[in-house]
Amino acid sequence: MTVSDAELLDLARTAAGNAYAPYSGFPVGAALLLDDGRTVTGCNVENASYGLTVCAERTAAGRMIAEREEVDGDGCRPHIVAAAVVGLKASPCHPCGACHQVLGEFSCERVIVEGPSGVPVSIDFRDLLPHAFGPDSL
Ligand SMILES: [Zn+2]
Repeated sequence: MTVSDAELLDLARTAAGNAYAPYSGFPVGAALLLDDGRTVTGCNVENASYGLTVCAERTAAGRMIAEREEVDGDGCRPHIVAAAVVGLKASPCHPCGACHQVLGEFSCERVIVEGPSGVPVSIDFRDLLPHAFGPDSL
């Protein structure tokens, strides 16, 4: 079953509702669509030290790795078809630079954010990070 961009945004919005954001009051959710059809969600997790805060995209990536059922092929590297991001207090809410780097590690193809009236806007990942440093750079 294919997940639509709007459905992926819905998953991200739901995940944002679980955000731990007592300092910024800026809840964010992310939903990753993997090449095997699975989806994985995450939300931002803040910390009193501020600097240890982890973004929604990176908590989703962590879950993606931790919850894999099979580890095989492609250097055991999952492939992200699309990453949807929703900020409950900002629209659109784009991934930060650190999250671009992490999403790029897993060959992310597209980032989906909310456009006007919540309409999905799909952005080619190569347009976001055209000269990425990644596994092929080593
Ligand atoms: Zn980030």
